[in-house]
Amino acid sequence: MAANKSILILAGDGIGPEVMVQVRRVIDWFDKRREVTFEVAEGLVGGAAYDAHGTPLTDETLADAMACDAVLFGAVGGPKYDDAPRALRPEMGLLRLRKELDLFANLRPAIAFESLLDASSLKPEVIRGLDLLIVRESTSGVYFGEPRGIETMPDGSRQAVDTQFYTDAEITRVAAAAFDLARQRRGKVTSAEKANVMETGVLWREEVTKLHADSYADVELEHMYADNCAMQLVRAPTQFDVILADNLFGDILSDCAAMLTGSLGMLPSATLGAADDSGRRRALYEPVHGSAPDIAGTGAANPLACLLSFAMLLRFSFDLEEDAKLIENSVANVLNSGIRTADIMGANSSRVSTGVMGDAILRELDKQAA
Ligand code: NAD
Repeated sequence: MAANKSILILAGDGIGPEVMVQVRRVIDWFDKRREVTFEVAEGLVGGAAYDAHGTPLTDETLADAMACDAVLFGAVGGPKYDDAPRALRPEMGLLRLRKELDLFANLRPAIAFESLLDASSLKPEVIRGLDLLIVRESTSGVYFGEPRGIETMPDGSRQAVDTQFYTDAEITRVAAAAFDLARQRRGKVTSAEKANVMETGVLWREEVTKLHADSYADVELEHMYADNCAMQLVRAPTQFDVILADNLFGDILSDCAAMLTGSLGMLPSATLGAADDSGRRRALYEPVHGSAPDIAGTGAANPLACLLSFAMLLRFSFDLEEDAKLIENSVANVLNSGIRTADIMGANSSRVSTGVMGDAILRELDKQAA
């Protein structure tokens, strides 16, 4: 695969391939209408790879993922694979990709589109203008720390242990990613931990403070206890720009922030690895939603989360801010015009299929680029 703007598409299962068809149309549009061109390869992952090759991720596909500039991922899983051995389940393909590519910074934006304000459970005036980014450490912490397990004691009682564990290097690499991203945004990082009651929280706060003083003094840094951060997210979410958190707190805070904006069908994400000497980071972009077997094949899937993941890819892997904005503005305008898939229907809107939503986005891109 050539080193210049190569993308590996892994559409996966269920609605993954359905939404990816629409994103592929947008990629082709960029190829034809903008200066940038992409070299796109496609591969199988999850249940689709299991059906074809007996494994959710082949070594060849993994090698392609290592060699390309960015992976665009759909979704994996489905009831058909419920009885597959654990090591061969569809999600193991995604987990292996994240592990082998050493993707440690998970990025989840939460953006309130004006025309979807009513989809939020919060009052419109609380979320109007919301545009925040959660950067979650995703390869360490309590989900991976050892020892862990459930033990039966001599008296027959049982006890369980998980270990919250962080090294200084794990903290500083994800914090550096958060500071770098803040520089591309409004220049503020809120670092969330529980330094009041956890040793990992103390180390987290010390390392983030030191890195900030050494290399990122131009960025505003605020420390916040993670429980307060959760409260602030539902009280006054527009105060945030970038929120930095460990694996556990980031998991909870990002789900909380996601729901501020309404539907799963609208939520993109990215996971980034370390930058190499040329500044290139390994990266995987994917919608937050799963394979939605309940609507797969019905043409009801919302392709916008996957499309917005592609916009993130343009921004973070290829530094194409203007092109990313072109997609995001097209999405906003299409929503404003009342065109909606079933999951985001509102009053005075017309319900369209996955493909018709793709048509509307392409028309809007044409209009904006004219
Ligand atoms: P899901 O995200 O697939 O679906 C949850 C609900 O949201 C469903 O009702 C679905 O119809 C709806 N929905 C999701 N995406 C939508 C979209 N783009 N447009 C319209 N509606 C949408 O979660 P689930 O039902 O818990 O899981 C289904 C399968 O997906 C499982 O096998 C699970 O393991 C897998 N999964 C995969 C990923 C991933 O690939 N990253 C993430 C989560 C779940």
